[in-house]
Amino acid sequence: MNNFFNSVKLKEELCMGCINCIKRCPTQAIRVRNGKAFIVKEFCIDCGECIRICPHHAKEATYDSPKIMERFEYTVALPAPSLYGQFNNLDDINIVLTALKKMGFDDVYEVSSAAEIISDLTRGYVAANQDKWPIISTACPTVVRLIQIRFPNLIEHLLPIYAPVDLAAINARRMAMEKTGLPSEKIGIIFISPCPAKVTAVKSPIGIEKSEIDGVLAMKDVYTILLPYMKESIDVVEDIGRSGRIGIGWGSSGGEAGALLIDNYLAADGIENIIKVLDDLEDQKLEQLEFIELNACSGGCVGGVLTVENPYAAKVKLKRLRKYLPVAGTHLDEKDSKDKFWTEDVLYEPVFKIGNNMHDSIKKMARVEELCDRFPALDCGSCGAPSCKALAEDIVRGVAKEEDCIHILKDYIHKLSDELSRLDRKM
Ligand code: SF4
Ligand code: SF4
Repeated sequence: MNNFFNSVKLKEELCMGCINCIKRCPTQAIRVRNGKAFIVKEFCIDCGECIRICPHHAKEATYDSPKIMERFEYTVALPAPSLYGQFNNLDDINIVLTALKKMGFDDVYEVSSAAEIISDLTRGYVAANQDKWPIISTACPTVVRLIQIRFPNLIEHLLPIYAPVDLAAINARRMAMEKTGLPSEKIGIIFISPCPAKVTAVKSPIGIEKSEIDGVLAMKDVYTILLPYMKESIDVVEDIGRSGRIGIGWGSSGGEAGALLIDNYLAADGIENIIKVLDDLEDQKLEQLEFIELNACSGGCVGGVLTVENPYAAKVKLKRLRKYLPVAGTHLDEKDSKDKFWTEDVLYEPVFKIGNNMHDSIKKMARVEELCDRFPALDCGSCGAPSCKALAEDIVRGVAKEEDCIHILKDYIHKLSDELSRLDRKM
């Protein structure tokens, strides 16, 4: 198991132990013990569902403060395309890009611009790799992590190409160094993220050795800073936008797949829906497709927990913005296309395995079944685990005990009290 970083954390002082979150976590990564929730970090895929569901705001994503910009001599903002969907009545993305410079960035490199290069490359990869159809998109880090821990048979279908944000960071750094003559360490490449999973992907990169991103800001924080600049009219709107319809389309579900100019694809969003798609794919029900785009958040990146706008309203706004743009503003430079493929293996991470070897696993599975037979199968969550089976597995792993089940505890108490009465009578 690697040293996986999680962006989603618990604010212990706010947690009331209400168990709302344990049922909603798609990987059963949350337990409540001694009245407080905790996240089993190996199981967590940073989907942000627990942030959405917690009524006490006890779950949060970790990201950087805008102060991080002060650490560098020259900074470049990498806005995710979903940022443009946050503003009302926006008809020119250059207004947002100019406002980012007013906020303090020296330059801007749109992630949507890198996305267009990735779209070009994906088209070629899909056409050349029919034996791997359907190819599964890898731009959503939560999807890749989910496949790594729960659907190992599907790893070979993953698109082994850089996520747009990683390519944007490489291009932005190279351009900033050429423009300023500054060494790399004096240049800060700062991503404006819609979700915690992308914060995690910077710390624990997928398919690449190291991310070129120096800091990640939450889209909701940047939105608040940008709004005043955008409201007071910006005197000169700089013409710095590079991307077209294809790149901006990546901000919402269906945009990545739509850019492949094929009909034989599926685009699903929302964590429960993507799990259903992956289950079907594992059952070989979707083999006729060429490409599958999956986004863990409803609506795609516009639905990330670090955004401010309703995802469906943001999707409409992106659609309106795209209408006036050229099809694509950036294209693949054929000569360095090979540099945009993954360099590191993305491997199965058997975090749910309960035994050290086959024999041990069989023995422990038998014990899990035996425990499940003793539990009432109510999946009530009172023990702090999301289901009776999850509690049984925790017991077998040595991190919980049978009496955590209140029904078993009740039986013990009854037996104890009967025994005490018997002794009392005897005395
Ligand atoms: S939903 Fe989870 S994190 Fe939030 S208060 Fe309840 S137990 Fe704690
Ligand atoms: S972020 Fe998602 S996977 Fe992680 S604990 Fe929360 S609900 Fe579970």
